[in-house]
Amino acid sequence: MSGNGTFGSCCVELKEAMSGEDFEPLITVGEGDILYMSVGLIEMEDDEPGMIDHPVFFCPFCGTKLQTADDVRAKSGDLEDEDQPTS
Ligand SMILES: [Zn+2]
Repeated sequence: MSGNGTFGSCCVELKEAMSGEDFEPLITVGEGDILYMSVGLIEMEDDEPGMIDHPVFFCPFCGTKLQTADDVRAKSGDLEDEDQPTS
């Protein structure tokens, strides 16, 4: 393990944005220890609004590099294990 699963250690702004005691956090650590930011809402077929999440590569508050696209790809690839021929 790379051991960088401590998102929110770069600055208090991110830490507070993730903890969200008085609100629903839009920045969360998802499956595979990937940090996601909700960027919008989408209407699902069952009328339940769904969140559109996007991996966060840099802290939006202080600019610290949190994870790389390769990190996200490797972590999410382990989970989803989709067969997507790329060639
Ligand atoms: Zn930060």
